[in-house]
Amino acid sequence: MKKEYDLIVVGAGPGGSIAAKTAAKEGLDVLLIEKRQEIGDPIRCAEGVGKYNLKQHIEPDPRWICADLKGSRIFSPDGTEIEMAEEIAGGEVGYVLERKIFDRALANESAIAGAEVMVKTRATDLIIENDTVCGIKLMHMGEEYEVRSKIVIGADGMESKVGRWAGIDTSVKPADMETCAQYLVSNANIDQEFCYFYLGNEIAPAGYIWLFPKGGNKANVGIGILGSKSRKKMPIDLLNEFMEKNMPDAKIIEMVVGGVPVSGSIERTIANGLMLVGDAARQSDPITGGGIINAMDAGKIAGEIAVKAIRKEDCSTATLQEYEDLWRETIGKEIDNSLLVKETFVNFTDDDLNSLANSLKNVNFTSMSLLDLLLALFKANKKLLWNLRGLF
Ligand code: FAD
Repeated sequence: MKKEYDLIVVGAGPGGSIAAKTAAKEGLDVLLIEKRQEIGDPIRCAEGVGKYNLKQHIEPDPRWICADLKGSRIFSPDGTEIEMAEEIAGGEVGYVLERKIFDRALANESAIAGAEVMVKTRATDLIIENDTVCGIKLMHMGEEYEVRSKIVIGADGMESKVGRWAGIDTSVKPADMETCAQYLVSNANIDQEFCYFYLGNEIAPAGYIWLFPKGGNKANVGIGILGSKSRKKMPIDLLNEFMEKNMPDAKIIEMVVGGVPVSGSIERTIANGLMLVGDAARQSDPITGGGIINAMDAGKIAGEIAVKAIRKEDCSTATLQEYEDLWRETIGKEIDNSLLVKETFVNFTDDDLNSLANSLKNVNFTSMSLLDLLLALFKANKKLLWNLRGLF
């Protein structure tokens, strides 16, 4: 480790590794640090990603793809099933990854591009001089160090502290947090080419239960419910109830708990000499909770803007504003739309969900476009159309 770099990236998740790779490829001197001793482990993720979006960043590799999905099956509270092809369902249902390998592959790509990667290295604070971030304080193998840089990218995930250290408000109210619990199970006995979603206020209030195949008769079975709705029963209790009823033969081989911010965009993700990306910038999707692709997209934009700013020798917010503008025009717009849909969805009763599912059950989702789907949905549900008018 040197005393000074062009760019320090805190956190080797998908957002951090892509940021580091993008900047290192353009010749910046980059340090990527990860507090854990093994990148990607433990995972806190259902590991679903859209195929098209993933391929914008990395060539799919069978070593980290557990399942290649044809589509998803969605069940309403009364059991009505809707099947959607992968191109329609999109978002998080193209591949199911093995993130322990995937995250390492991404970090490896950043190393190949020239970044220095350090594990078991925790950022403990920022160095701030004249209202400008000039590096980080870090802890490595029990020793404290100060390392300087022209820019710091905070990619330190859901529990991010980097933003807070720079005076950026990244707080998420419990009501805006999707609380999740997940098991990796064997003996899943599901069709490994589909992922499954179960909706209903009894089984997952203002959220859903998911079942993502992991190959070899394994699956991620998880639940995410809105913090404001988890007073009656904890997510893990609801998940156990679901498993007892629907998957009595499944054997739990791993457990994950975690939170996903579903609050929508925060006000600011930059400071002088600093950018936040991914979960640290609260860029996950408010409906699905998916954040892998958004983190990678934001990481790429932040890496590119870091290169520009350093070449221009101006890393102030005036230059970094381009990062803020670019992610808000793309990722931000999708987050805003999802937030609108989420706010409608969380107020649905089970009857609303059933009638929605019934109006869609005869629709051929394999041959229709997303727009056709929305039109079919809205024709049958005028109230929904009204609630979501902001989308058009
Ligand atoms: P992370 O992947 O969280 O990476 C942050 C990294 O920073 C971590 O490795 C962490 O150890 C490191 N770090 C933190 N603090 C420090 C520090 N001080 N110093 C050094 N390193 C530090 N998204 C999807 O797209 N699809 C899904 O199916 C999906 N399922 C999910 C299921 C659950 C139960 C949960 C909780 C989340 C799920 N998500 C899913 C969300 C997804 O996991 C995140 O959005 C994604 O990992 C964000 O990537 P990131 O790079 O921003 O952060």
